[in-house]
Amino acid sequence: MLRALSEAGFSDTRARRAVVQALSESRTGATPADLLTRGRSLHAGLGQVTVYRTLEILEHLGLVRKLHQEDGCSSYATSSAGHAHHVICRTCRAAVEFEGCRIEEVLHEASARTGYKVESHFLELFGVCPACRRKK
Ligand SMILES: [Zn+2]
Ligand SMILES: [Zn+2]
Repeated sequence: MLRALSEAGFSDTRARRAVVQALSESRTGATPADLLTRGRSLHAGLGQVTVYRTLEILEHLGLVRKLHQEDGCSSYATSSAGHAHHVICRTCRAAVEFEGCRIEEVLHEASARTGYKVESHFLELFGVCPACRRKK
């Protein structure tokens, strides 16, 4: 992730590195507030603005995906290069990426019925993760 950032022309500051590290350590996705707390343990001078700026850049580069939790909060999770979506646990909020979205049929159907030229989609799945299922 750091290399992609510097290849895109963004300087590799210690603060930015702390955000990237905090993000890659969180397997479940993290809110900007989580990242600020975790990032500060790595680099005391980290500020909120840097967290948001770094997330914005990473999202733009397709390295993280902004997740919209059901309670209206957003969190961020690392994402692979290809087209993929996340499935999010309702209990612990852990987010896992899955590839292979076969939504074309739905898009064609929507186009056919509305006359819109559908260009993109936004899809998140919610459920209960294996760890939380075991606990029940
Ligand atoms: Zn869970
Ligand atoms: Zn998709």
